[in-house]
Amino acid sequence: MTIFEKIIAREIPAKVIWEDDDAIAFEDVNPQAPVHVLIVPKKVIPRLSAATEKDRALLGKLMAVAGDLAKKLEIDKTGYRVVINSGPDAGESVPHLHVHLLGKRALAWPPG
Ligand code: 5GP
Repeated sequence: MTIFEKIIAREIPAKVIWEDDDAIAFEDVNPQAPVHVLIVPKKVIPRLSAATEKDRALLGKLMAVAGDLAKKLEIDKTGYRVVINSGPDAGESVPHLHVHLLGKRALAWPPG
């Protein structure tokens, strides 16, 4: 079980800000910006490249939720970044697909 499955199962605590049957969003424990939320599908998909044709609607929903939460967290006007780290070169550390939503500060580009 990954750490995110344990959060979904409420076996370990997290600051949950949104949830439905398909996904959950909670604050990152090691925030890289004043707003740093992780949006995690409840279905275990290790990473983007492991998603199948059946997961397409779910992948779209994760993006839509990121946009909704950006409004809810009032970063939609100032700007924000949506990130998926996939594999070793990207620094993926939890093998359960998740979308980072970062904002409330200016974010450098290109990323490190
Ligand atoms: P990745 O590096 O895989 O893209 O992102 C994993 C993220 O999960 C990291 O930003 C890390 O801080 C976060 N994280 C790891 N363990 C926990 C935890 O137990 N609780 C929460 N809320 N976030 C976690």
